[in-house]
Amino acid sequence: MAAITRFSKHSAISHVRRCLYSASAAAAAESNSHAPSPIGNYKITRRDPSERNVQWVFLGSPGVGKGTYASRLSTLLGVPHIATGDLVREELASSGPIAKQLTEIVNQGKLVSDEIIISLLSKRLKAGEAKGESGFLLDGFPRTTNQAEILEGVADIDLVVNLRLPESVLIEKCLGRRICGQCGKNFNVASIDVKGLNGSPGISMAPLLPPSSCMSKLVTRSDDTEQVVKERLRIYNEKSQPLEDYYRNQGKLMEFDLPGGIPESWPKLLEALNLDEFEERRSVAA
Ligand code: ADP
Repeated sequence: MAAITRFSKHSAISHVRRCLYSASAAAAAESNSHAPSPIGNYKITRRDPSERNVQWVFLGSPGVGKGTYASRLSTLLGVPHIATGDLVREELASSGPIAKQLTEIVNQGKLVSDEIIISLLSKRLKAGEAKGESGFLLDGFPRTTNQAEILEGVADIDLVVNLRLPESVLIEKCLGRRICGQCGKNFNVASIDVKGLNGSPGISMAPLLPPSSCMSKLVTRSDDTEQVVKERLRIYNEKSQPLEDYYRNQGKLMEFDLPGGIPESWPKLLEALNLDEFEERRSVAA
């Protein structure tokens, strides 16, 4: 069941309206923006919430599906989905100066230093700002309260969505993750059927299989081995409590227990975000 904690649905919907109806948001922000604040090597313009798109954060353990849901919402709301894990993997693929150092850290399931991750994120935010982006759905950042405080220096986060699944499901999902080496799309070959205990509902998730064109090109992330996944979950659990408390104390945290796979969870998530009618109107218009 989706549960909302100390979160006003009005804040989410008012930001969505802004995305929809504020055609001149970028121009208005240009003239009314605050002085840029530094993050990493770049200065990012902090904008008044009435002059920009949504700035949301997705929290959740490895394998919970933050990327999947953030990416769907990104398409729905027209705001970029920025995943720091993707920025790290791009850096690894580029064989740049820090790639070797990163490979070792990522393959051990450890966190990259704040300095490196903030440098990658600030570069991405600055590039987005130059293209007129004024909002984002952040996935994988912040992961610690220190990162949250740094983010607060440059952005006023509207909402933090905390996606949750039982740990046994998370491990199965991480081990079932596959990426098409050609098109980059994510799939999952795990077929999950966990019985509910003590009256709580069970969870079933059908595999998310690739089309036949991707089937022979599937690759597994090098950090999705059982040992590394368990280490990533351990680190996540250690850091997540204070981070959740940080946003809970600000009244921004929305807890969402995923009821199953995408077909069950997506409509419930939209409902919790008060975006269900918005999606219906959009699909009728399309
Ligand atoms: P997952 O959520 O499945 O653990 P991600 O794709 O978000 O994986 O991240 C992959 C790896 O990139 C992490 O294990 C970590 O090494 C690094 N990373 C991503 N985001 C951060 C962050 N905010 N701080 C430190 N390291 C990060």
